[in-house]
Amino acid sequence: MVRADGIVKNYGKLNVLDGLDLEVDAGEVVCLIGPSGSGKSTFLRCINHLEGIDGGRMWVDGKAMGYDIKGTRLHEQKESRICRSRTGIGMVFQHFNLFPHMTVLENLVEAPRLVLGEKKSVVVQRALELLEKVGLAEKAGAFPRQLSGGQQQRVAIARALCMQPKLMLFDEPTSALDPELVGDVLKVMKDLALSGMTMVVVTHEMNFARDVADRVVFMADGRIVEQGPARYVITNPQHERTKAFLSSVR
Ligand code: ATP
Ligand code: MG
Repeated sequence: MVRADGIVKNYGKLNVLDGLDLEVDAGEVVCLIGPSGSGKSTFLRCINHLEGIDGGRMWVDGKAMGYDIKGTRLHEQKESRICRSRTGIGMVFQHFNLFPHMTVLENLVEAPRLVLGEKKSVVVQRALELLEKVGLAEKAGAFPRQLSGGQQQRVAIARALCMQPKLMLFDEPTSALDPELVGDVLKVMKDLALSGMTMVVVTHEMNFARDVADRVVFMADGRIVEQGPARYVITNPQHERTKAFLSSVR
């Protein structure tokens, strides 16, 4: 579903991703962990083409991101094509970024209507089912400010899913939440993982990674240091950097 080959990303002189390779299979759940500044968010943004890359190649769902079919780098004017491939990818951020002036239901319905041009009745039906799934059916008519942070994050997940993505990216979806609100959001993500969604999750929730991830990837300085099943990477890490990181988050 995702194939990243030698991804390089620089911000000016700062080399943030230093030849990063990662493959994520359809239905796989990969948790990305690593110290602050190691390039986790940048990598997710490269997958989603929110950032251009300075080297390497990125394929999502068999399509090369940022290149046309002949392998020529896409320029700004091809933005519409990039947008089209981006519609297959849902992204959930630390800060939920809901549209504040729209109800919960309107938040879900907006993009499928405007971006995909879907029929309203079809989208509303799907949106209501998704709200049911995330436990917020009764909040369809509420505005974001009337919800708790955890509820808003569950709406953000439902909103991303309403676009029927093939891949979901999560960037520390629970780290802005009060501790008592984290569990409900993780439960929604776990259900999603069990439903077969392909997911790449940046998280500091080691219990979630241990329970749900098929693979844990530890990154430092823009490179993958160690990866494998959680029972190895988290429970029995081999590299000093992984050990040091894990002891700092435990
Ligand atoms: P955290 O755990 O704190 O979220 P991270 O692993 O997600 O960290 P990134 O946000 O990917 O790290 O940032 C990696 C490096 O790139 C950092 O040194 C950061 O300062 C730098 N960086 C990120 N975005 C930009 C930008 N738009 N312009 C310049 N530098 C940036
Ligand atoms: Mg980050």
